[in-house]
Amino acid sequence: MVSDDEAAALARRFGLSVEAFHGRYTRPERSGRSLTERKTEHGYDCVFLDRETLPGRAVCGVYEDRPAQCRTWPFWKSNLRTARTWERATSICPGMNTGELVGPQQIRIERSKVDI
Ligand code: SF4
Repeated sequence: MVSDDEAAALARRFGLSVEAFHGRYTRPERSGRSLTERKTEHGYDCVFLDRETLPGRAVCGVYEDRPAQCRTWPFWKSNLRTARTWERATSICPGMNTGELVGPQQIRIERSKVDI
């Protein structure tokens, strides 16, 4: 999901009006607007997922302006509810349970930023 402020920042990044940005990169959802996806050999990728710049890697093409929903992943309430919900999320996200450990205080902060 992308908020109005996030859409405005992304629109600025591309030199687009917010309306043009929405027309090109988002679609309406029941609870707001979502970034669109495109079908690739890997499934449905976010329209901003870049699989070409770094061969063999998939990186966010708008990293500095990515929405809060992306910034806070995987520390969403829905993932943190139980060990099982966390494990379910790890089964679709190979980046989870790798890299630096994040402490409980930081996890609480991230969890509080979005209501997912
Ligand atoms: S982190 Fe970037 S590529 Fe991934 S879903 Fe968010 S905007 Fe799209």
